[in-house]
Amino acid sequence: MDKKSFIVIGKPKGNITKLPYSPIKESLLLNLKTRSEKGEIELRCECSDKIVLKVSNAKSPYLYNSTRQFKHSKDCCRHPQFVGSSPYEKAWSYDEEEGLHIVRIKELHFSQSGDNNERNNNVRNNVFYQEGTGSNKNVSTVFGLATRINMMAWESMVLGKKHRIPNDKYELAKHVYGITSRIRLSRKRKTLNEMFYKQVNIRNVKVKKDIYFVYMYVNRERPFGEDTLFDNTKKDILYCKDAFGRTNRFYVEKEEYEHKKKIEPHSPEYVVAGFVYKKDLYHRCMTLQNYCLIPVSDRGLYCESSHEKNIYDRLCDDNLTFYKPYLPIEGYGSFIPDGYIVDKERDIIFEVFGITGMSSYDERKEEKIALSHTDSFKSMYKFKYWEVN
Ligand SMILES: [Zn+2]
Repeated sequence: MDKKSFIVIGKPKGNITKLPYSPIKESLLLNLKTRSEKGEIELRCECSDKIVLKVSNAKSPYLYNSTRQFKHSKDCCRHPQFVGSSPYEKAWSYDEEEGLHIVRIKELHFSQSGDNNERNNNVRNNVFYQEGTGSNKNVSTVFGLATRINMMAWESMVLGKKHRIPNDKYELAKHVYGITSRIRLSRKRKTLNEMFYKQVNIRNVKVKKDIYFVYMYVNRERPFGEDTLFDNTKKDILYCKDAFGRTNRFYVEKEEYEHKKKIEPHSPEYVVAGFVYKKDLYHRCMTLQNYCLIPVSDRGLYCESSHEKNIYDRLCDDNLTFYKPYLPIEGYGSFIPDGYIVDKERDIIFEVFGITGMSSYDERKEEKIALSHTDSFKSMYKFKYWEVN
């Protein structure tokens, strides 16, 4: 059984409370920090009672191992080589000393057009990471990276100091930018935040050397344009809007773009996320290479179906404090629910069940509903679901 919790020991009685590492409210972490500094409690990892934890002084506080001579066990989510079981965990690990999430992603070589078929080759369950072999083992796809940072950013607003959902998609995009300062690609020295694309003078960009990370909204009214190069060749341009609503232009291959759009048809609103570089000396725009399109709700939250989008939009209209989890929720089997509403009385786990007639889907649905009727579940959460088709 994977270990994903830490333990709060009250002093002097020694009474114990178990809490998950994630998700965790920032206010709770700060509260634990104060109490442990006063000596009222001690924090330890679930995997070893030798590992004493402290809460960092960082702006966004995190837990770290204060006893360096003892290491987490291999089945602990805090072990640097820990590989989780859910799609969003597999390519990710956590570096406690840096307080950074490390994501393994395929080498960002732009010499060939190797990534065009990245998603076609994957079955639906596996779009978030690729199994691979050797050093390519369990590497995240760009889609897996982008959808997870989308959900992390939303969650950090709800569980962080703001304690509310984003007011609009641009506010969420600003939080995505912020969250990338806690993420590093495993083969890079810089954080993803330091790789973030900024409006630069294209003349100063080194051809095929400088690689930037893009997270923007596709301009719905006018997605495409065209550029004519000095030799009269034409280039398709994709118009996108950054977190400040400013227009940016990138070269894309229209056919590839349309294909990516077709396999994620759940919303008219898309985030384009991935990597850009300058392909040729004479180019006036950067080229989108290893990238994905993620369908998002009106306020920018990733949605896996059009039903999910409708429900997220409705919950936003009702101003409910909810997020979309990317890790299994404690006490909910190994399932990742479609949503989690933070509620004063008892938090609510919710699902949006499509009617599929697919036996594996229906089995999991029954299992989830049965789980929600158990006493242990009901002691922690309320359950709500929608059936839609
Ligand atoms: Zn541990």
